[in-house]
Amino acid sequence: MRVCLFGATGKVGSVLGPALERAGHTVVDGRAAGPDGCEVAIDFTRPDAVLENAAKCLAAGVPLVVGTTGCDLGELDRRAREAGLPCFYAPNFAIGAVLMMRFAAEASASFRGEIVELHAETKLDAPSGTAKATAERMGEGVPIHSVRLPGLVAHQEVIFGGPGETLTIRHDTTSREAFVPGVLRAVEAVSGLPAGLTVGLESLLWPPRRPARRPEVEGV
Ligand code: NAP
Repeated sequence: MRVCLFGATGKVGSVLGPALERAGHTVVDGRAAGPDGCEVAIDFTRPDAVLENAAKCLAAGVPLVVGTTGCDLGELDRRAREAGLPCFYAPNFAIGAVLMMRFAAEASASFRGEIVELHAETKLDAPSGTAKATAERMGEGVPIHSVRLPGLVAHQEVIFGGPGETLTIRHDTTSREAFVPGVLRAVEAVSGLPAGLTVGLESLLWPPRRPARRPEVEGV
């Protein structure tokens, strides 16, 4: 496919561009060339740039995959519906992070939990989109603690506590290659989604869950 990439020179975009090419797509720099003639567009830019880039895509009839966090999702949904085009947003395209959110949602049925998210000091938004999405899945009023330091990429712990025990679910993104499989999946899927904004990689990765297999070994 011909893919328009907004943020091609950024930390994520510079990993994503070559990976898309390796997967057989032709990549066009969104800032330089715009979305005309492309089948899909991707945005990994900054929160205040998303709606303007989206407006160009919707005017050109090009479905959009958004990875930029901290943008106005309600407005993006409204504009995509109005244009009759699909948009897709995932707060985290790393498959391990999606699993972390799912496990955290399950654990919150049994324990009270708090979220600690840790990112590079260059990240503009806090709390992170992943932390907000995790908190939403865990229920009302989940505290989020944000850490911004050099040397970090993207990390999150969800710490649960109950009488006499704690449970920690942790995900570490050690390289931005982690986002590539999820973005490729979204690029392939977005055109087939309904008009408006679809949120969350889990909706593209897994069909509805089957009942768990009975464990063969008993344990503590
Ligand atoms: P970054 O290194 O700062 O890169 C941002 C890129 O966007 C730069 O190439 C920048 O170009 C470009 N840009 C800025 N304004 C633009 C505009 N109006 N039109 C087109 N391009 C523009 O940031 P990053 O680490 O790659 O992260 C980008 C975004 O993705 C952030 O919001 C981050 O939180 C998010 N993110 C999401 C996920 C996920 O899985 N959903 C994963 C990682 C990161 P100049 O430098 O020339 O201005």
